[in-house]
Amino acid sequence: MTQIEAAIKGIITKEMEGAATGENRTAEYVRQMVAEGKAVIPNNTGRKARLVAIGAGLRTKVNASIGTSSDIIDVKAEVEKALAAEKAGADTLMELSVGGDLDAIRKEVLAATSLSVGSVPLYQAFKEAIERYHDPNKLTEELLFDVLERQCSDGISFMAVHCGINRLTIERLNRQGYRYGGLVSRGGSYMVGWMLRNNRENPLYEKFDKVVGILKKYDCVLSLGNGLRAGAVHDSLDRAQVQELLINCELAEAGQEMGCQMMCEGPGHLPLDDIEANVKLQKRMSNDAPFYVLGPLTTDIAAGYDHISAAIGAAEAARYGADLICYVTPAEHLALPNRDDVVEGVRAARIAAHAGDMVKLKSGSRDMAMAKARRDLKWDEQQRLGLFGEKAAEIRASRAPEEPDTCTLCGSFCALDNVNAYFRESLRGGGKA
Ligand code: SF4
Repeated sequence: MTQIEAAIKGIITKEMEGAATGENRTAEYVRQMVAEGKAVIPNNTGRKARLVAIGAGLRTKVNASIGTSSDIIDVKAEVEKALAAEKAGADTLMELSVGGDLDAIRKEVLAATSLSVGSVPLYQAFKEAIERYHDPNKLTEELLFDVLERQCSDGISFMAVHCGINRLTIERLNRQGYRYGGLVSRGGSYMVGWMLRNNRENPLYEKFDKVVGILKKYDCVLSLGNGLRAGAVHDSLDRAQVQELLINCELAEAGQEMGCQMMCEGPGHLPLDDIEANVKLQKRMSNDAPFYVLGPLTTDIAAGYDHISAAIGAAEAARYGADLICYVTPAEHLALPNRDDVVEGVRAARIAAHAGDMVKLKSGSRDMAMAKARRDLKWDEQQRLGLFGEKAAEIRASRAPEEPDTCTLCGSFCALDNVNAYFRESLRGGGKA
């Protein structure tokens, strides 16, 4: 029985209990959200992983993606990146290798991390078609569904499958005169090429029930891939993107009715003033299915600092209801990320998720505690409360002040130190103590 099937029957599973830990919620709340299709628990019947619930009323989660490219195949480095992402606070991991022995790499990463691991099966399907037939457009349905089954049986807990690309979405793309930024989804672009070359419907759309059947068997979450996401802010919310989103929202509902946990994926690149509309469209059209967004990047001219461009968008998306944020690293658009890029990407996304949750979940109590610790110059307390306490302590220690209570930014001109004494009385009288 899948989590959604159990939830609808009123059963609280051990996965729901595990996922409620760390949330300010009961297991019964998680059950209710899963039953209504408003939350998912990435899971796989064949692999134990750290449990998280993603969805309505729950903390916004952060995903980190790793994986080899065709140019850089260093499995040890990918495992190190997976472990670094976990240590930096990622909630889930996606293994997105396209270079080397993909079955072996996936197994190695799954063995190394305790996080739930996601995948994009189209990468492997097209890679194997190229290896077998020297042409990605010769990919067969048999090979495609075999890859889905293989990845599930290895222990994948959520899978981004590009079911929402169909003839209608391609027609929209043609009618609008293609795009400023082209197609940037690797799986999406190969599938569009396959459909056009073979003049056929997408088998993942046409045989959606077969996709659901495979994932359901393992209780794996079906994350409806965003193959036509905008890869440039000027393509944001264009008709092709919205067409695919609409289809994905329909499929999310259909998949839930078949007993599969479902999630929708989103952009991509969006200017700040399109983010609210995008999140609300997805929520309204899918009856509040969990929304998994990449970034979104809010400008196209910040290469080298795209983790910041994305964190700005992610904070807005989380504020309006996005449930899972895929990090972006400083190497985005430039190179395969290294370990340091991964850590910076996770940290930036965690700040965004927290800033969004302060509005979405009204979860600002830690910030209030930090304000008081700063006011009272309690440095150990500040380190404990901060998202990155060790980093903060390291910077402070590297430039230690003469006055131990202050820091070297203002030194003896410390505003807090100067004025706190005047307000001690009002704090004793029950003020903002
Ligand atoms: S020295 Fe300046 S920056 Fe440092 S704690 Fe005091 S007021 Fe804050």
